Amino acid sequence: MVKKKRDEELSKLRAEIRNVTLDIIDKVHKRMELSERIGTVKGNLNIEIEDEKVEQEVRASVTELSHKLGIDPAFSGRLLNVMLTESIRLQHMQQKKVESTSSEYTHLTVFIKAKELENAGKKIIHLEVGEPDFPPPRKIKKALIESYNKKQYHYTDSRGLLKLRQAIAKKVGYGIMHDEVIVTSGGRFAIFSAILSILKPGEEVISIDPAWPAYQEFVDFAGGKIKTLKTTFEEKWTPDIKQLEEMVDDHTKAIILNYPNNPTGKVLDEKYITKIISLAEDKGLYVISDEVYSDYAFKRFTSLIRYKYDKSIVVSSFSKSCAMTGFRVGYGIARKEIIDKMARVQAIALTSVAEPMQHAALGAIDYNPAGNVKLIKERLDLISEKLCHMSLDFVTPEGAMYVYPRLRGLIQNDVTLVEKLLDLGVAVAPGSGFGENYKQFIRISACQPRKLLEQGLEVIRSIMLKH
Ligand code: PMP
Repeated sequence: MVKKKRDEELSKLRAEIRNVTLDIIDKVHKRMELSERIGTVKGNLNIEIEDEKVEQEVRASVTELSHKLGIDPAFSGRLLNVMLTESIRLQHMQQKKVESTSSEYTHLTVFIKAKELENAGKKIIHLEVGEPDFPPPRKIKKALIESYNKKQYHYTDSRGLLKLRQAIAKKVGYGIMHDEVIVTSGGRFAIFSAILSILKPGEEVISIDPAWPAYQEFVDFAGGKIKTLKTTFEEKWTPDIKQLEEMVDDHTKAIILNYPNNPTGKVLDEKYITKIISLAEDKGLYVISDEVYSDYAFKRFTSLIRYKYDKSIVVSSFSKSCAMTGFRVGYGIARKEIIDKMARVQAIALTSVAEPMQHAALGAIDYNPAGNVKLIKERLDLISEKLCHMSLDFVTPEGAMYVYPRLRGLIQNDVTLVEKLLDLGVAVAPGSGFGENYKQFIRISACQPRKLLEQGLEVIRSIMLKH
């Protein structure tokens, strides 16, 4: 009898919870409709989609109500962030219907377009890609052949071969141990697995714009919310630390840094890194430091590894220093517990990095990239020298493989210029692919031989003269 009564009560409660859930979905639907309408209005008024002030106001109201109702504000805040992220996505979609030119242009879409043109017989000079054109170290050929002959082509520990982890730990120094290293499928997967390991849906990650677009994609994929600290040409791409401090709130989980920077070539001075670490320490934030261009630093560069911050995840790669992009070998350095979480993500997605590729990386471990670095620096100097004579302003790159100039002639829109240049057989990356505030910029890559660079820059000059 008692059991029957309890069963009835349970069924009633279940029906009620179902109805409440459906009510929530109904309300979410109404919220989405409103977001779309707001997107259209903003599009017509030509105003920015993201408005930090408005978000903060909503956040404050939600926190207040949560306290009143006795709900954990951290939970309601995460829920709100999920809705805000969706709202921004919908508004972007809505604006795309309003805008005639696509803002979906990135260096990758230009690359695909350029390849299509090449397939149709057109000659293209590729100044859009970030892929070194020089050959990988010779020693890796032997390492690959040996790995085949020794039948070393099996699954490995998802953290990577012990020998390779030991070698990376030794190369990195600062007392790093092999269990604080994970070998990943490119630097890309190290960052992706780090984000999936530390982020819960609705939590926030701060990245510094302009930025490699993958950071936003990773955070979106993990159900998080990306907040961007904008840096400017006028400030020589130096982040405003005070602004950064103000952006951190209860839901902020991590900051992503990328120095030497793609696309600006900025190398951040140690004093700023120290301030960022101190902020992170204070607020308990992770710091993911993407250092895939660390060899290409033309002034003193401080790796985050030096700080021994226990919530740092430092990422590097064999792609750029050793010109091994297609081998897909990168690595992450972090506390063992973080590495183990990242290894779980890699195990789920890939099992491990292909064993022969790990042997190739081992073959490249002592490679000295000085020659490549010198070559890239000379090419960047050449680009800078040529740009000085055009209606383009730029901050001289201190590292990485790119120049990121601002247009000041008649053509002020990156996509318009990118399309005109593509018609003339030169591919460059649109600045807005690295953040929506940078429609007045383009990225020119130094990954082509001098002669092609000169030809490409001559085409850019001819266009800038005419317009
Ligand atoms: N970070 C940045 C800033 C990059 O530009 C790239 C590649 N373009 C990567 C990480 C990833 O490189 P990979 O996966 O080839 O190591």
